Amino acid sequence: MHFASDNSGAALPEVLAAITEANDGYAMGYGDDVEMTQVTAKIRKIFEAPEAAVYLVSTGTTANSLALATLCDPWQTIFCTEVAHIHKDECNAPEFYTGGAKLTLAADKDVDKMTPASLRAAIEVEETRGVHGPQRGPVSITQVTEYGTVYTLAELTALCDVAKSYDLPVHLDGARFTNAMVALGCTPAEMTWKAGVDAVSFGGTKNGCMGVEAVIFFDPKHAWEFELRRKRGGHLFSKHRYLSAQMLGYLQDDVWIEAATKANANAAHLAGGLRALGATFKYPPQANMMFVALPRATHKRLLDAGAVYHLWDGTLEGDDAEMVTARLVCDWSLNKEVIDQFLDLAAGK
Ligand SMILES: *Cc1c(COP(=O)(O)O)cnc(C)c1O
Repeated sequence: MHFASDNSGAALPEVLAAITEANDGYAMGYGDDVEMTQVTAKIRKIFEAPEAAVYLVSTGTTANSLALATLCDPWQTIFCTEVAHIHKDECNAPEFYTGGAKLTLAADKDVDKMTPASLRAAIEVEETRGVHGPQRGPVSITQVTEYGTVYTLAELTALCDVAKSYDLPVHLDGARFTNAMVALGCTPAEMTWKAGVDAVSFGGTKNGCMGVEAVIFFDPKHAWEFELRRKRGGHLFSKHRYLSAQMLGYLQDDVWIEAATKANANAAHLAGGLRALGATFKYPPQANMMFVALPRATHKRLLDAGAVYHLWDGTLEGDDAEMVTARLVCDWSLNKEVIDQFLDLAAGK
């Protein structure tokens, strides 16, 4: 009963098979492998972006930091939410890789999404102090949001429109890109460049890869700078074919879409079951992650029985009847029986 994160499940068999297939004979290093040529072609096709520059790195923090560094000068500031992974969970890597750019929070604490109004207000505050203050920089949007909700295409477009009205580039942190895409039932192009997104961290790891994320720039003018930054940052893989192979296995047929569809369906099943028990959610669960309030006694029962997940806003210490919020994440590899076992325990059965 493992709901701690979508990085705690197994990798997809198709991804492992692709690695094994690539593990034959010799291949050029540093991204000059045949598999990478195929990955680039595949991603360009999937995104309907024949000119896109495509790169692979091994973590989402790297993808975000190097993508943002490429879009951002050191004297600029990046607009994001208070809960953004780049703000809370990357140990200042974006600040480090950008050479000291700041982050400006364009949403209040505990708010999952920026709105056009909150983004505009945050942008308006910057660049009012001439040479003395931060200059306006990229807008970074997380999709699926850190609170498990999904921006609609209209919401994404509206945020991009605000950014464009100030001539600012837009980055999408898509650690859970495919979960959002499946939830919206849209195409990759609709969720990115058609809405006004300039660069994407396209997640692989949380949806069944071993460790690979793509960085995609729709304007290839960023290509060389990104390559230099990736190398300088120590993130250009020598035996690169093993990164490429993962992405190839992931994108072959509809493996990536099927995995996210399963993860989202698992989450819907879990959320439905919890709702039937009267549980409430802090944010509407829309993809594969949810924040559910349960009595402390229920958490104790679940965790004692071996369930694994994170408590979000409290601990096991205190009044048994008090509500504590848990974060529950479903990956593709969970099955219904395990979820039902968890729900039975939650129900006190
Ligand atoms: C997991 C995650 C990342 C990437 O994290 P790494 O641990 O560096 O791979 C980035 N953004 C979001 C929103 C995430 O959930």
